[in-house]
Amino acid sequence: MACYLLPLEHRAVVLVLNLRSVSINLMDCWGEIEGKRVHDPSFHLFHHNHHHHPSDPYGKLMKAATVCKAERCIWVPGPVIVGAGPSGLAVAACLKEKGVPSVVLDRSHCIASLWQLKTYDRLRLHLPKQYCELPLLALPSCFPTYPSKEQFVAYLQAYARRFDIRPVFNHKVVSAEYDERIGLWRVKSMAAQDGGGVEYVSRWLVVATGENAEAVLPAIDGMEDFKGTIMHTSLYKSGDIFEGKKVLVVGCGNSGMEVSLDLCNHKARPYIVVRDSVHILPRGILGLSTFGLSMWLLKWLPMRTVDRLLLLASRIMLGDTARLSLRRPLLGPLELKSLSGKTPVLDIGALAKIKSGDIKVRPAIKRLMVHGAEFVDGRLEEFDAIILATGYKSNVPSWLKEREFFSEKDGLPRKPFPNGWKAEQGLYAVGLTRRGLMGVSMDARRIAHDIEQSWKAGATQPMTT
Ligand SMILES: Cc1cc2nc3c(=O)[nH]c(=O)nc-3n(C[C@H](O)[C@H](O)[C@H](O)COP(=O)(O)OP(=O)(O)OC[C@H]3O[C@@H](n4cnc5c(N)ncnc54)[C@H](O)[C@@H]3O)c2cc1C
Repeated sequence: MACYLLPLEHRAVVLVLNLRSVSINLMDCWGEIEGKRVHDPSFHLFHHNHHHHPSDPYGKLMKAATVCKAERCIWVPGPVIVGAGPSGLAVAACLKEKGVPSVVLDRSHCIASLWQLKTYDRLRLHLPKQYCELPLLALPSCFPTYPSKEQFVAYLQAYARRFDIRPVFNHKVVSAEYDERIGLWRVKSMAAQDGGGVEYVSRWLVVATGENAEAVLPAIDGMEDFKGTIMHTSLYKSGDIFEGKKVLVVGCGNSGMEVSLDLCNHKARPYIVVRDSVHILPRGILGLSTFGLSMWLLKWLPMRTVDRLLLLASRIMLGDTARLSLRRPLLGPLELKSLSGKTPVLDIGALAKIKSGDIKVRPAIKRLMVHGAEFVDGRLEEFDAIILATGYKSNVPSWLKEREFFSEKDGLPRKPFPNGWKAEQGLYAVGLTRRGLMGVSMDARRIAHDIEQSWKAGATQPMTT
């Protein structure tokens, strides 16, 4: 009898190969096949015997063992989920509820690494909490309408505990591809500590690496000459280190606006670069959240009409933003979001600071110099620091070998919401259709339901191939 054990934190998993009766007993959700044993005669013996466990209905386990080349090769009877952010946790929880085990991998050392490690201190949810909760567990009623990042992270930690989700941390997925020969996904990860490789083999792969996996760093002329600090918002924590400093914030999305406000509140002197047009909306209208109100109006009215109403309310509440060098796009805020994914800015106070002149608006940068920047309007100004609020991008094309469902250009599904969650051959995407946490919940429920169907179909499949 050969017995392969996984570490305890990966949930008491035992794969027993009983050479005498040639049966396989998967006591829990995983089995591990050490790569060095791939050519062990016991695997081939099992393969030829055509006895199968329900979790391995197609007898693929043994085939996988024969092609696996990594140092360690792990057969996962349920799906492999890449990413332990809100999306990965939501899918794992929905699956758990249906009795389907999964394995969650994350390159970081904690869950929700974007929220825990790459966001600024003053961050609160941009949308009211009811639109940000994950399936099966509401955000606590004692939390405010817009919970702080600490509260949201505490909720996610409680969520992982509630559904007993224990991701494999410090394992970055470096490649994943569907192997036609065995009809399975082969997902290779690399351990952060020792660079050791593990190959996970599964029927299902869920991509949950997020729309914000990598910081976008623009190439600005003269960037290497600038002698002050340059940092992306993913590294910005608070304006306190910039007190008294002249800081140029590049980008005027929600993050750029909020960082400018934070700098102001810490007695720095922020300048914000507004290159394109931008929609700024009040966060609330008549005591209701702008987002909630829009969702409600969309049930009754066409998008363009709702856009007109939003713009009218914004005009009354915020005034003409174009007079502050903040031109509005030709398309309305909702139409623009649905066509290009560009999110409107929900104002939480930055606009008042722009009006008062505490935050100054500048056009696009022409080039950077040793101590400052030249703008396209010819103005030259000195700065102590530059903060790039230039957004994020998906990293899917860097590791997933699949080009039909995912666009190589932006690493997002080619099909827009609500169809961007399911591809072919057991491949799924969660949280990648620019619908925020609400989209995450919808995707997660659909994915879990879909996988449950094939999981059950697999379990009732005849035990021979
Ligand atoms: C500042 C900020 C504020 C936001 N506020 C809101 C809000 O109020 N409401 C809202 O709905 N949305 C908001 N968002 C959008 C945000 O993207 C989602 O809230 C949410 O984080 C998406 O979850 P996710 O799990 O899809 O992605 P992420 O939270 O980015 O999680 C992805 C995970 O995948 C891991 N990963 C990536 N690549 C690999 C790899 N190759 N191998 C292994 N692991 C990998 C990462 O380490 C990460 O833990 C905000 C975003 C930002 C940046």
